[in-house]
Amino acid sequence: MTAAIDQSGVSTADTATSGNDAAQRDWNSGLARRTKTLGGGEITAILALAGASDIITFSGGFPDPATFPTTVLAEIAARLIAEDPGVALQYSATEGIAGVRDYVSGRLTSLDGRTPASGELMITSGGIDCLELIAKSYVDAGDVVVVEAPTYLGAIMAFRGYEADVRGVPVDDDGLRVDVLGDLLAAGLRPKILYTIPDFQNPTGLTMSAQRRAALVALARRYGFLVVEDVAYRDLGFDRAPPPSLWSAAPDVVVQAGTFSKIFCPGFRMGWAAGPEQIISRLVVAKQNSDQCSGALGQRMLEEYGRAGHMEQQLVASRALYARRAALMARALAEHMPAGTTWTTPEGGFYIWLTAPGGVDTVALSSAARARKVAYVPGRPFYPGDGGTGQIRLAYSRVSDDLIDEGIRRIGDVLRSAMEEK
Ligand code: PMP
Repeated sequence: MTAAIDQSGVSTADTATSGNDAAQRDWNSGLARRTKTLGGGEITAILALAGASDIITFSGGFPDPATFPTTVLAEIAARLIAEDPGVALQYSATEGIAGVRDYVSGRLTSLDGRTPASGELMITSGGIDCLELIAKSYVDAGDVVVVEAPTYLGAIMAFRGYEADVRGVPVDDDGLRVDVLGDLLAAGLRPKILYTIPDFQNPTGLTMSAQRRAALVALARRYGFLVVEDVAYRDLGFDRAPPPSLWSAAPDVVVQAGTFSKIFCPGFRMGWAAGPEQIISRLVVAKQNSDQCSGALGQRMLEEYGRAGHMEQQLVASRALYARRAALMARALAEHMPAGTTWTTPEGGFYIWLTAPGGVDTVALSSAARARKVAYVPGRPFYPGDGGTGQIRLAYSRVSDDLIDEGIRRIGDVLRSAMEEK
């Protein structure tokens, strides 16, 4: 091809080439180093199923929309927009609207038995915002963050996003193996942060015993690390409440990360952080540089809804709903799982953690499951290191009662075929 010269003196061939270059530019080559260990694919895949209707999904930790109080919310929204637009539609203080903090503080007083002092509480945009603000404020590259193995994968991503060295400590039926943590600390491990989900954990459904909580707090005080207590499912105990929260027992070394996503609705992205005033004030500074403040309309909706007593009333119905689902799951699993499969028995929350018989790779099986029109999350991404290849997380929170048996039967078939192929 011969290059012509246009009137500006630029070769048309050059122009064409630079156009091509632009089309082929690899923007990934310029990515910040700290983003390179972030997968993100798993959460994207989970959220992509948010509206799926032709598939039986035990995938994301979605609350059942039947628990969303639409009539009440429509009335509150209309009233706030008509009567209080100067607050509800406006920017708000970064730490949250004073009345909303007062409501959440009162709720903590009645449920946790401790009232946060002034400056010890802020409103966040859901639970993940709090984790992100903590990581942004306290994690330098290479800092050690200990998590349960397995744990909530959004937390692994939040800490890795700031280049933490994320280490896993195993769990058993009583939650985090605090004895294993104690051994690691004695051998010289010096975490800056320990992240735990003590109540009806994501992904295992298990709860940390009172003894383990006391032992963990003793270690935090002795070795000087911060405990981040994620209470996303704390209010969703089926028959009884879990042991007292870590924050209520040790407000000097614990930040409690709470969310209203599972007990109110995720659509408003409402949560809280309660902890030492020095820490909360730093999280407030960090938030100024992310979303600046949690949405005022959501905050005021939460407050109006909560103060009118709807939150605690709905919780009674929600707990009964999820308890019924968990029981249906237990029955279906007992009936359809191949011999050698084991699973947890949660006393609250959204999840059952299943371990397939020896050697079955649940990541590889996901597409076979998808072909059978059933979805789960393979165990692998819930571990910061190796682990989880033979496990799957089953969320029963959003699958309708009448599909549970069929969905679990399909997963049983998929596992059985994989075992026969081996
Ligand atoms: N913590 C845990 C343990 C979770 O399971 C989730 C969501 N699945 C979150 C935090 C995030 O909550 P939110 O949607 O309120 O950000």
